[in-house]
Amino acid sequence: MECVHFNLRESLSRQLQHYPKDITEEITTLEISFNIDGLPIFKSSKAHLWPILCAIHLNPVRVFPVTLTLGPSKPSNLDFVEDAIKDIQELLDNGLEGKQVKIKCVVCDAPGRAMVKKIKQFSGYYGCDKCTQRGLWVSGRVTYPDVDNLTLHTNETYRTEMARREKDDDVSLSPFVRLPLDMVNQFPIDYMHQACLGVTKKMITEWMRGERNVRMSAGQINQVSQRLLSLRKAIPSCFARKPRGLENIDRWKATELRQFAVYTGKIVLKGILADELYDHFMAFSVALSLLLSPNLAVEHNSYSSELMTYFVAKTKELYGDHFMVYNVHSMLHVPAEAMNFGTLDACSAFPFENFLGKLKRLIRSGSQPLVQVAKR
Ligand SMILES: [Zn+2]
Repeated sequence: MECVHFNLRESLSRQLQHYPKDITEEITTLEISFNIDGLPIFKSSKAHLWPILCAIHLNPVRVFPVTLTLGPSKPSNLDFVEDAIKDIQELLDNGLEGKQVKIKCVVCDAPGRAMVKKIKQFSGYYGCDKCTQRGLWVSGRVTYPDVDNLTLHTNETYRTEMARREKDDDVSLSPFVRLPLDMVNQFPIDYMHQACLGVTKKMITEWMRGERNVRMSAGQINQVSQRLLSLRKAIPSCFARKPRGLENIDRWKATELRQFAVYTGKIVLKGILADELYDHFMAFSVALSLLLSPNLAVEHNSYSSELMTYFVAKTKELYGDHFMVYNVHSMLHVPAEAMNFGTLDACSAFPFENFLGKLKRLIRSGSQPLVQVAKR
């Protein structure tokens, strides 16, 4: 793999200069988070960019690259994170410009988390890194049928298990264990991947192309699309995109799925989607809306949790056992993430995803893509 590393201390100092002085002088602790994700750069090859990004949690959140790596679709080891880990350790030890530096979280999608924590893939039998539930093989995929009495993983159980595997199975440890991190709570489930791109999209495609008992007719799909289009003029400019019809569902971006899950879905589906399915969707939509609100996520956390548990349990009844995949299961854990971080938006991949898009646009030709991104 080719790697370019930018010194974290220098980058952080430079990025802080973009904030007004009264903001940076006031704070005594600087909160940062990290993101590791792979993005394909060319349609014709398997080459992926694996950037390690850092976000400064001030208003507005600023994202910048720490390490840029070019390699295969999945790196075979974690050597590319070593420089970043050393820089982070140094900042945690010495602080920056008189401020204490704190890591909020490390945001990854499920396969990314499995990779950086060196645990089983999310599609394996013990695929959930938040609880110990053993997956069940149904119709060619691993599913998670249980919704209550889950035994949760903790930082201690993770570290004990990994130390055992290092000793017994000769597995090398994740470089992140060298940092003073809670290896469970500080690796949150990212709702952008799990709730928006995962659950919301899965439900919509099921209503369009699924089994007869959950499918809408072609006329109903068209009606929902017409309603979505009619809402375009009512969407304020703070939204990145305006609604598109369901015929584009395969191209909907995470932000469009978020808009549907939280705002527009409840309006455009009412009276068209079967009542039972609509009520079930509403449990998800209301729970997600609460967990995204900085004012309500903590106060109404247990109610959101009840709604999500109901949603996941009822999913099995309405959509069948094969629908109980990891994405759906992970909704049982998102209320705890909102409780830990104040809202799901505080620990999501959305700000990083926007930056990844920008990075990708810096590659303008096929020759030396990493050099192009690093220089630009
Ligand atoms: Zn779980």
